[in-house]
Amino acid sequence: CSPGCFTIFTVHPMPLVGLGTWKSEPGQVKQAVIWALQSGYRHIDCAPIYGNEPEIGEAFQEMMGPEKGIRREDVFVTSKLWNTKHHPDDVEPCSPKNLSYIVVVLNLNEFNSAVECKQQRNSSVASIKPTVLQVESHPYLAQVELLAHCRDRSLVMTAYSPLGSPDRAWKHPEEPVLLEEPAIAALAKKYNKTPAQIIIRWQTQRGVVTIPKSITESRIKENIQVFDFTLEPEEMNQVTAVHRGWRYIVPTITVDGKSVPRDAAHPHYPFNDPY
Ligand code: NAP
Repeated sequence: CSPGCFTIFTVHPMPLVGLGTWKSEPGQVKQAVIWALQSGYRHIDCAPIYGNEPEIGEAFQEMMGPEKGIRREDVFVTSKLWNTKHHPDDVEPCSPKNLSYIVVVLNLNEFNSAVECKQQRNSSVASIKPTVLQVESHPYLAQVELLAHCRDRSLVMTAYSPLGSPDRAWKHPEEPVLLEEPAIAALAKKYNKTPAQIIIRWQTQRGVVTIPKSITESRIKENIQVFDFTLEPEEMNQVTAVHRGWRYIVPTITVDGKSVPRDAAHPHYPFNDPY
């Protein structure tokens, strides 16, 4: 792993910063992954549902190999199975075999991870012990309780949508912009960093793996340059205090012309809990 790519230990070393690839379109994602690998990323977050894994595989083929300086076993690749693809027969067609180089497949998505966590919380016994829990987390959704729960169980937490997912299709034009939060902007000024770097630093400093998505070369580089400064304990608390309980990635369906949360009546629906 490159010097800036610190790892946290699961069954495999897991770099604390990875590249997100949801919404990174074919035609863009290959170049983004190449820039990321060139910038020192050794963790790429993928999913078949993102519809871009074949192109990510092309980037891996281009960048990895005996003569190319990056060994395929150095790269931590996450993939995720959709809720309807959990039968064993569904796993292989869904797994990213079209990625020519795959190291690790995590087949837990947030819903099922949350179910598993609930089972653990309720009974202390889960059928399969999860290793990594990937959930939405950013300063507006700090996930303090859930992180403590993960730590108690030696479970690594990965923060998805760490910058508030500003390119999600349902973003409201009037909603507050996480990257413009005054407390974060003040720290960015103090450390001569960007707000995105402050947020990623805050997550990594509290031991949370973070997977910002970008298709922009300068941002891809910027987002991993977070290991050359340290936030004071009080500053860590200031970022945590930005929490508003705002969750952006909630699947919805339209019922009677209204957009409502999907699966909200399910007994294991995770988002009725405080975290
Ligand atoms: P995000 O990483 O919070 O935000 C991505 C957006 O921020 C893009 O518009 C990107 O723009 C912009 N951006 C990136 N770096 C920036 C910087 N330094 N300064 C300013 N803007 C910056 O959103 P996300 O894609 O929702 O989440 C990240 C990843 O988490 C996903 O891509 C996916 O891999 C994973 N995820 C998993 C789940 C799940 O259910 N397990 C759900 C959601 C997301 P450009 O690309 O134009 O540079």
